[in-house]
Amino acid sequence: MSKWYVDRSRYEAGFACPYSRLLHYHALGTGLVPSTEPSELSTGHEIHSALELVLNRAIETKVPATAVDLDGANLGRGFSTTESEGLVHAWVRSNLPWLMDNYDILSAEEEFSIDVGDDIVWMARPDCVVRSKATGLPCVVEFKSTRAKADRMGQLYANSLQSIMNAYAVSSKYNQPCGEVQIHVLQLGTEQYPTPITHAYYRAGQPPYVPEDWQPTSRRPDGTWLGKLYRRVSVAAHRSIPEWVWSMPASALAAVVPIIKSDVDPTIQGLKVMQAINSIRINEAWWRDTLSKIDWTSTTPSDLSNLVPRSFNCHSYNRLCEYTPLCFDPDTYTLNPARADAFWDAGRSEEIFKRRQPHHPQEEQ
Ligand code: SF4
Repeated sequence: MSKWYVDRSRYEAGFACPYSRLLHYHALGTGLVPSTEPSELSTGHEIHSALELVLNRAIETKVPATAVDLDGANLGRGFSTTESEGLVHAWVRSNLPWLMDNYDILSAEEEFSIDVGDDIVWMARPDCVVRSKATGLPCVVEFKSTRAKADRMGQLYANSLQSIMNAYAVSSKYNQPCGEVQIHVLQLGTEQYPTPITHAYYRAGQPPYVPEDWQPTSRRPDGTWLGKLYRRVSVAAHRSIPEWVWSMPASALAAVVPIIKSDVDPTIQGLKVMQAINSIRINEAWWRDTLSKIDWTSTTPSDLSNLVPRSFNCHSYNRLCEYTPLCFDPDTYTLNPARADAFWDAGRSEEIFKRRQPHHPQEEQ
């Protein structure tokens, strides 16, 4: 039997909506993505990719990066948003020196393959693996850019399948227990609570953030206060983001890139790993068996519907699932096989959907 490869994203996608996983990861071989998918990286991918470069450089040179090293030309690519640029600078200034003082950095974005039985292989890729100078144990470091509250993220990820399997991958490779899982939160701002990385509050008389033409706008025409004296202004208009971030007090940066550490209890971790592996084996055996029944040269959405269920989890993350054209008629919210078949043909010709490019080397096998 040939190996069956699975990673965390497709595994969890199958629980969110099995039909969505089928289309995204398996349709026509390696899955379909919308042809109009933007070529630039999302904020999360952009931050991860910059931090991977920074970490690899730290492994090589053994010294933390500086603001100059993060210049677009030195980093190999620029940033598409001031927020992602600011967060990478904040992490490098606030967290990287601490990490290098207390840990040896072993790898960044290294691929780990875990054989979970029945020829099923779990592909794990921790953001970073470090070794504690205090305990000598390997530890997992994950980056999470989020608009949610940092402590909420910590709770969610400490017990997530991703953390459990990444810790297991690391302990298997180094033949030692994994000491801890660290979540480094990169806190994105919201409309209500903008991040100090890209925005500052200012008021008249507080240089250097007050433009010369500043006028208080918090009074109504009749002179009564609306309630807020402070205004928000984009720092980028006044200073460069790197200049701003490296001038901020470290305490302000620590709040923007907080670290949430969880010790890994070997006994509990063992039970969690056993549960996770059982679940992976059962679910992936179903996927392997179901997909073996599909002939992608002739199948249609109607055939697929009889094999893989939909959960209609169509509005997760506050956006409409990109596969709705292959699922239902949005005008009537009813399944419309004829319409789906027409979109399927368009998908084959790559007008609306294109083939997904696998991002794990094992998938190419
Ligand atoms: S549109 Fe809804 S039912 Fe269809 S794949 Fe997406 S989430 Fe599932």
